[in-house]
Amino acid sequence: MPIYIDENKCIGCRACIPACPYGAIDMVDDIATFNESCTSCGACAYACPTGAIVLEMARKGEVDTSQYEGLWVVGEITPEGRMASVTAELLGEGRRLAADLDTDVSVVLMGHEIGDLAKAAAGYGADRVFLVDHPSLARYRTQPFTDVLTGLINTHKPEIVLIGASAMGRDLASRVAARIKAGLTADCTELTINPESRLLEQTRPAFGGNVMATILCEFTRPQMATVRPKVMKPMEFDESREAEVIGVPVSIEEKSIATAVLEVIKDETGSDVNLTEADIIVSGGRGLGDPEHFALIEEFAGLLGGAVGASRATVDAGWIPATHQVGQTGKTVHPKLYIACGISGAVQHLAGMSSSDCIVAINKDPDAPIFNVAHYGIVGDLFEVVPAMIEAIKERRGE
Ligand SMILES: Cc1cc2nc3c(=O)[nH]c(=O)nc-3n(C[C@H](O)[C@H](O)[C@H](O)COP(=O)(O)OP(=O)(O)OC[C@H]3O[C@@H](n4cnc5c(N)ncnc54)[C@H](O)[C@@H]3O)c2cc1C
Repeated sequence: MPIYIDENKCIGCRACIPACPYGAIDMVDDIATFNESCTSCGACAYACPTGAIVLEMARKGEVDTSQYEGLWVVGEITPEGRMASVTAELLGEGRRLAADLDTDVSVVLMGHEIGDLAKAAAGYGADRVFLVDHPSLARYRTQPFTDVLTGLINTHKPEIVLIGASAMGRDLASRVAARIKAGLTADCTELTINPESRLLEQTRPAFGGNVMATILCEFTRPQMATVRPKVMKPMEFDESREAEVIGVPVSIEEKSIATAVLEVIKDETGSDVNLTEADIIVSGGRGLGDPEHFALIEEFAGLLGGAVGASRATVDAGWIPATHQVGQTGKTVHPKLYIACGISGAVQHLAGMSSSDCIVAINKDPDAPIFNVAHYGIVGDLFEVVPAMIEAIKERRGE
């Protein structure tokens, strides 16, 4: 993407120099000048107080799409320093897509002291790892991550970039897409390669989940998509896989970053429900009739060692915190067992749980749509069925 300095506007203030993560700006006769390290990431343009640094927008049809090659996954690292499961899932999906394009899969890992993670990325399907290790990247912050990723994309020109639709991914993907003027499809549930056009077909729910829209980015590159955790499946970890590791040197000045992470506070309120990681989820819907009846769902889930999920109707009614919500505007889950109690099965709920391995639905209405996706359906009153199931489990365990 073209970037240039308007010499008439440059006042020689040097604000752009610490903003550049690639050390690409020199002062020549008190005018900022780009050197050969410039990646056109645009960080300097945002720091320039006089608008002297100009990023030119590509117009429709102006991008030479043939220059772009390879599929990238933007890695996410947990606060404990592990590779997030969504990264493994995207690598698995990336491998399938890359096979159709006959290309390779790279992952970008940004963090601090993260060299060990290259092995994990390789085992889950990366052919190449761009490793950006810097103390200022130890915790996610919008500005340095955007600058670094934008620079890498401008330099290496990947054809496709996949990012997890996590809190970090949603923030980063939209910033980077805006910076490089690329299209971005958020919350995709399916990705395929069109065999004729070789374009990425990005499918996601639209109009409140009533329509599945397939979106193409024909004129801009890379084609960028975010995918929620648990939507795609990771490949089996392969210890023997190796990846090329490319260390990316960056020079980030803390003083150029507008935010600092002072402390990371773990949520101790119990609202941090790890639904996306749970193997068993028991969910309650409006059929519970009363917020206090969630105690029955909690007891059932507790007995099975599972987590408590909920429909949006119960969340909107204030019966249970939003962190429990499953569905299009809640969490996407993929447990081994999903038990839906008193949930009708609206499309928006199904969007978040229909890929569960085994779905058991308990509903007194035999025509409830949840039965269309259930592997086992129990037509009955949940206040009779659930206590009977609890009793049976306890009996079997000799409790
Ligand atoms: C843009 C948008 C996004 C949305 N996102 C989500 C989302 O992320 N997640 C989500 O869940 N919803 C979402 N919704 C709402 C969704 O459309 C439904 O309104 C909601 O899922 C209904 O919740 P429910 O099944 O608990 O309630 P209801 O549809 O009222 O169903 C209650 C069910 O309980 C059964 N029942 C009643 N009593 C009993 C009993 N004693 N025993 C057994 N069964 C009983 C009834 O037969 C009925 O089928 C969204 C809607 C929109 C427009």
